[in-house]
Amino acid sequence: MLTIRHGVATDTGNVRAQNEDAFFASGTLFAVADGMGGHNAGEVASALTTQLLGALPQGAVSTPEAFVEVVQQINQSIYQAATTATEQRGMGTTLTALAVVANDDGAEPPHMVLANVGDSRAYLLRDGQMRQLSVDHSYVQELVTEGLLTADEARTHPRRNIVTRALGIDIAVSVDSSVIPIIAGDRFMLCSDGLVDEVPPNEIESLCLLQANPGDAANALVAAAKKHGGRDNITVIVIDALSPAAVPSETTNNDASISTAQPNRSRSAILIGAVVLVVALFTLFIVGARNARSGYFLDFDGTQSSAEVTVYQGSANGFLWFGPTVAFVSDVSRGDVLSALEREIDRKPQFDSLKEAKSYIVQLAEVAGGNG
Ligand code: MN
Repeated sequence: MLTIRHGVATDTGNVRAQNEDAFFASGTLFAVADGMGGHNAGEVASALTTQLLGALPQGAVSTPEAFVEVVQQINQSIYQAATTATEQRGMGTTLTALAVVANDDGAEPPHMVLANVGDSRAYLLRDGQMRQLSVDHSYVQELVTEGLLTADEARTHPRRNIVTRALGIDIAVSVDSSVIPIIAGDRFMLCSDGLVDEVPPNEIESLCLLQANPGDAANALVAAAKKHGGRDNITVIVIDALSPAAVPSETTNNDASISTAQPNRSRSAILIGAVVLVVALFTLFIVGARNARSGYFLDFDGTQSSAEVTVYQGSANGFLWFGPTVAFVSDVSRGDVLSALEREIDRKPQFDSLKEAKSYIVQLAEVAGGNG
């Protein structure tokens, strides 16, 4: 009925000596694990994780509860291995995994069960749009959640590799799990941070859209990560769900886990709103600043009788910090002009150009001269 096709690519990258990432991919279970710990211990932790997943009987992780329990058991196995072998002390691994539940009997709508610990990620590409299904357990993600960092800042943050949860570190671990209905045409993607730390999200999305074959997509993503620097190991699994006839229509909106994509969407809506607001404010600012700078007015440069008639550029009231500036200082003083003209100048008469303002002063001087 529903056909699942997948492609995998993994690479040591351009800098690291070893590939501590591990993966497992069968037709129904997919996992990426990113190991950490010195002396090859990270490699041991990630490989142990994917081996234990690979040894599971069919259907062992078809519910979120079962998947969480299995991952917690794997955690204990790694933790015990880490505490017994001194060279493996402190080893740990991330795990992001998808189990396909698509029984041919049609008893339940086809869906994925996701389990996640750490900062490897799961994505869904649906209707040409990429959504992140997993939430990183990392220091920078916590800052993003608290609104202290943007997702873009987190991507290049110097502390982005600090994970707050991993398998093997403690006797117990908290595992995130959710259910995602599968719609024909869906493309799922699992990856280690070696991809997302290097390749911007829009490039990941367009590469996923461009490559029809899941294996080509996985290869293209790994190649992009290496082109952008390849500073970490990179592992990508692309999983396609095919065959429209096999998918009951009610699967489109029957599960709360679809809402895992909502924060991203509303976040981008907020972001677009913020950008629009900033552009609008900036435009107002430029217009206001320009208006504040355009035009001239006359004023005395003081209240004393020696204060001179001065031409100022800008608005008499100023705009933000754009106060008027002195454009010309005449030799006509307050004491020189008739009191009627003095009052008029105190009202700060406006002129479109400096020339007009100056010719007004020339007339003032003539009147003053005639007066004196
Ligand atoms: Mn990594």
